[in-house]
Amino acid sequence: MRTNGMLIAIDGTAGTGKSSVGKAVAAKLGYGFLSTGEMYRALAYKVFEKHIEPEDHDAVLEAARQLRFTFARQPDAALKMYVDGEYLGDKLRLEEVGNVASRVSTNGEARRVLTDKMRAVGEDGGIVMEGRDVGTVVFPDAEIKFYLDASAEERAKRRVNQLKEAGQHADYGQILKMIEERDWRDSHRAVSPLKPADDAVVIDTSNLNLQQVTDAVLEKIQHYAS
Ligand code: C5P
Repeated sequence: MRTNGMLIAIDGTAGTGKSSVGKAVAAKLGYGFLSTGEMYRALAYKVFEKHIEPEDHDAVLEAARQLRFTFARQPDAALKMYVDGEYLGDKLRLEEVGNVASRVSTNGEARRVLTDKMRAVGEDGGIVMEGRDVGTVVFPDAEIKFYLDASAEERAKRRVNQLKEAGQHADYGQILKMIEERDWRDSHRAVSPLKPADDAVVIDTSNLNLQQVTDAVLEKIQHYAS
């Protein structure tokens, strides 16, 4: 066991509830919670801000090297992320940022830079880390690994509801297309493609609500810890 407890990895496709489940699980265990996708989104945001082409390998790598992350633990367990001292908040949640994130994340060297930063945050444990390759690449030695999946249609429906709740415009067809494109890119990239770790507990969340997924995850963790 690590100094502060287990390292729990939750990976999976976009829109499967990884963040909500991860936060709920972390809160229950008194652990921190980190979304590694936020770090790729931060890189995307900076790339966009600096007018760098997401496919410009060297410029994206340099932008990744320059990123300075600091984190502050929130009452709901999440680690609030500051990028170069600034809290970017909802700006990182925009669909466009997610898409650029998926493009810059094909850059293997930039991935290594971010992976090192993730390891520095999580190595002492006591944390739930959510992403695409936490259990396969960032922490292959994680104490317990989950992989959440759901059909693209169900995930698009959930995203539309989320955006509507946030008072934003949402077009189901467009969102479904973006989700399918992002899945394809994430699972076909040469470096760290999205796939379940061999030893991950795979959960299909298509017909489960958040509470049911959280309960299933907690049950496995209790089983592991006992
Ligand atoms: O999870 P989220 O949608 O915020 O992630 C945004 C993008 O960042 C993903 O589509 C994926 O391309 C990339 N990502 C990644 N590896 C991670 C987390 C996110 O490549 N561990």
